[in-house]
Amino acid sequence: MTKLLQEKTALITGGSRGIGRDMVLSFAKQGADVAFTYRSNAEMAGAVAKEAEQYGVKVMAIQSDASDYTAAEELIKEVVEGLGRIDILVNNAGITKDNLMLRMNEEMWDAVINVNLKSVFNLTKHAMRTMLKQRSGSIINVGSVVGIFGNAGQANYAASKAGIIGFSKSIAKEVGSRGIRCNVLAPGFIATDMTEELGEDTIKAYEASIPLKTLGKPQQVSDAAVFLGSDMSTYVTGQVLSVCGGMSM
Ligand code: NAP
Repeated sequence: MTKLLQEKTALITGGSRGIGRDMVLSFAKQGADVAFTYRSNAEMAGAVAKEAEQYGVKVMAIQSDASDYTAAEELIKEVVEGLGRIDILVNNAGITKDNLMLRMNEEMWDAVINVNLKSVFNLTKHAMRTMLKQRSGSIINVGSVVGIFGNAGQANYAASKAGIIGFSKSIAKEVGSRGIRCNVLAPGFIATDMTEELGEDTIKAYEASIPLKTLGKPQQVSDAAVFLGSDMSTYVTGQVLSVCGGMSM
């Protein structure tokens, strides 16, 4: 069977856990050579790399802070040297630092904006030269349904994810003529370490409000990322694809 990402290369930020980890494995399974980053957990990243290599593709696990502009420049150089090109860039790395506005301090605001939004600028900016030379590329920015409809206690997170939408639509308009696409993948509530922090009662309440009545799985987000990275979506750009069990209707 033909693999959907055969002969493509991908760079995925935040691939050591959660949705990013699943994307690394799904992309490898679909035939892509994959580079991925992590912030701190080298052991976990090594285990993901080992698992992905079993699909017979090249895998690079690189420690790199996505919020650091210079580190992003070095990362792109390393990936291009290692894999030859970058067909798909997935800006997935993200954090939460939730609190109501009265209790949200400057550090919580800056950290979330830097890791979730500035990182998207950093990586897109430095990958752009390579994609322009190739005259092709698919950029997938991981947003959130919270960036579409907001959430009490997540003003910093929602602002970062809403910012990703404006950024991605602008990039889609700027480089569409050069064969580069840019879309947002907006997960709803997906079972990962990030949502585990919410506690059982909150999770149950969310499940009741989701039309499909259950939290999503990382794999369900990865499937959409494979679509956006593949040649199945060559006429799709500037869009927000929600994978949320119907939450964002
Ligand atoms: P997660 O389980 O907490 O994993 C986060 C990943 O990002 C880890 O690999 C982590 O690396 C990495 N990371 C964190 N800060 C980083 C940095 N500064 N530079 C590079 N890597 C960094 O998160 P997740 O739930 O999979 O979320 C992935 C993306 O989906 C995020 O953008 C999140 O906002 C978005 N999202 C998630 C949900 C959800 O319900 N889970 C819903 C909507 C959107 P280390 O392991 O080294 O820390």
